Amino acid sequence: MRTLEEQIGGWCIHFNGIGNDACKLNIPYDTVTDNHKRKLPCIKQNECSEFCTSAQFPTEQDVAKRVAEINKHVAQYLTTMAEGKVCPQCQRPIESRRQVGRCIYVYPCGHRVGQGNLRKEQS
Ligand SMILES: [Zn+2]
Repeated sequence: MRTLEEQIGGWCIHFNGIGNDACKLNIPYDTVTDNHKRKLPCIKQNECSEFCTSAQFPTEQDVAKRVAEINKHVAQYLTTMAEGKVCPQCQRPIESRRQVGRCIYVYPCGHRVGQGNLRKEQS
């Protein structure tokens, strides 16, 4: 499995998803795709970045900054979850919890906050 650093660093900074016809620089994906292999140069792992002269990957510093942001966000989310006072998604105070199958929902917002066993957690 690729590390978070590899995943973040492996995407062209102009890539905006294959649901779009063109990237952030307005370069149509059709014009840069390696049609023979049907691979996009926007993904470093595809090893065909030469098909797009504008392909540009994040610097080591940018990747490190993004990884730090994600780790900080995850830590905040987990802290909020552990405290159990507000919804970690919308920050509204939690008044009640409900188990639906394996999932736990909080109310009044109704956000799913994860999987678990409420009975086990409350005993
Ligand atoms: Zn919520």
